Amino acid sequence: MQTLDNEIAEKIISKKIEKKEAMRIFDGLSEEDKLQLISQIKSLTGITNVVNGSGTATKRLKPLDQRDLEDNHRAFIQKLTEEYEAFVPKSKANVPKHHFHFVDQRRNFHLIKEIKQLHFQITYEKAEGAYVHDIDGNKYIDISGDMGVNIFGHKAPFIVDAVKAALDRGIPLAGYSETIHNATKLISELTGHDRVLFTQSGTEAVMVATRLARAATNRKKIALFEGAYHGLSDVVMAMRDMEGNSLAAGPGMLQEFADQIIVLKYGDEESLDIIEANASEIAGVLVEPVQSRHIYNKPVEFLKELRNITIEKDIPLIFDEMITGFRVSPQGAQGIFNITPDISTYGKIPGGGLPTGLVAGSQKYMDLIDGGTWEFGDDSMPKSKRVGMGGTHSQNPLKVASAYATMKQIKKELEKREDKCSKSCNFHSHTCQNMYCKLNTRTMRMVEELNQYFVEHNLPITIDFFGSLFRFRYIDSYWGITEALMFLLMRMNGVETNIQGNCFITTAHTDEDIRNVIEAVKKSLQTLIKEGFFYEATIEAPKEEFFVEAPTPVQQSTQTHTQEEINTNDAQLQKLKDLLVRDLKRFNQ
Ligand code: PMP
Repeated sequence: MQTLDNEIAEKIISKKIEKKEAMRIFDGLSEEDKLQLISQIKSLTGITNVVNGSGTATKRLKPLDQRDLEDNHRAFIQKLTEEYEAFVPKSKANVPKHHFHFVDQRRNFHLIKEIKQLHFQITYEKAEGAYVHDIDGNKYIDISGDMGVNIFGHKAPFIVDAVKAALDRGIPLAGYSETIHNATKLISELTGHDRVLFTQSGTEAVMVATRLARAATNRKKIALFEGAYHGLSDVVMAMRDMEGNSLAAGPGMLQEFADQIIVLKYGDEESLDIIEANASEIAGVLVEPVQSRHIYNKPVEFLKELRNITIEKDIPLIFDEMITGFRVSPQGAQGIFNITPDISTYGKIPGGGLPTGLVAGSQKYMDLIDGGTWEFGDDSMPKSKRVGMGGTHSQNPLKVASAYATMKQIKKELEKREDKCSKSCNFHSHTCQNMYCKLNTRTMRMVEELNQYFVEHNLPITIDFFGSLFRFRYIDSYWGITEALMFLLMRMNGVETNIQGNCFITTAHTDEDIRNVIEAVKKSLQTLIKEGFFYEATIEAPKEEFFVEAPTPVQQSTQTHTQEEINTNDAQLQKLKDLLVRDLKRFNQ
């Protein structure tokens, strides 16, 4: 019997194996391995079940836009406003009290005039495990994931203990501690990068990474990609206009900075040509390998070509893995795609809930920060060329303690990995107990069930996912009243999301929590359907063959597979096989 090799899924997707060969391998696998291969492919491509249609016109629901509200919709909004005010009265009362002195851009994010009355942040009281509690006594399942930070949920005991112990030791900022020595060593081990720098935030980590690239190459321009976010600094904030020029991204940002940035289309071969043609000017290429705003786009082959070109042209390649790092695998997307950049920026998860950023990279670049190592007892000295770097709180002992506790836990989890899981444990084995396998598999099953539901109800929604990061996407529209109401109703149905869109499953979420999230999504959408916020429209289905009939889901459970589940019957396997063939068609086009 054929055994499932860790790289098979990747080879299939990147077309290194012919379809016939892929099917031969598939046929030779055990039933359990067949399921695992399908999971791997789905996880890497983001495909779950796909919408029906074969190039012909089809009926699909469309979300109502705020410009199309009628009396019945307005009456519903009025009723909902009253219910919501009764649900979170103290949170609502905080808005007029504190709006003036408390400045926060998020407050007005996605604000829609027609439902302004419903648009306010609730005030949290506390958070624990998978839940947040508000000051009105409501408890929500938190899938906001704290913008990707708390992978172990809120108040993970090992982090709380480590931070309390650090507090007890005082907070000396000027010197080193054993913890920072141990933490940097462990981060280096987990990420595979030679050297590690702590910064105060992700923004700062990206700033330092681009500075390293410029210092190393004596070139000016940073190439980056449309659709990515790399933090707040002026050195990376630029937009691309229709002609491909870089424009300052907003008020207060200088065109002079944007002129040093080349904004390219992500995943587009032409971008590689531009990088090659302008190599002598390009100090570094900065990539968010799976953009959290466009999770469906995972251009692995493009990234591999980019890696080759940047090596050839001696351009440092920087992967910004702020969200994906330690989320989908310890290294991030680079661990999944098997691509090693020169420098990586991390943040979020390694801070364990406290603010941090990390720059991790090869010695060649990281030595530019401290001049490199030197030895006692000889005449070795640090290199003279050093970039400017500082940060009062870069090594704040509280966050270093929470970082170390988080890293130790991740290492412990990786030790549970089954031998047949790949080295970064990035593929789903149905029996592996490592947290990445469990998290990624459970998220995928939840997404599959909901995507199936959207298809069955002709809803124009899909969820994109990568590991335990996922995001709801309205297919034909971007943030209108229906979408806003859906998230509000989910809150009223006990699920807290993030208005910026990224959602996360953590190790603290139980199967029951995930089941409740699924039910809250369905219930919220049923309300909106009933109240006329979706209307039927004729949609020209794309011609691509990946728009296939959705198969009956094989596994709906969010639990680890039991032996009984693994023993899927022949009919189910045939369906899986059909799905594989169709997915392959999509990727071979
Ligand atoms: N890069 C990426 C990919 C991010 O997602 C973020 C923040 N969401 C940043 C950089 C900036 O990190 P921070 O907010 O910690 O400054």
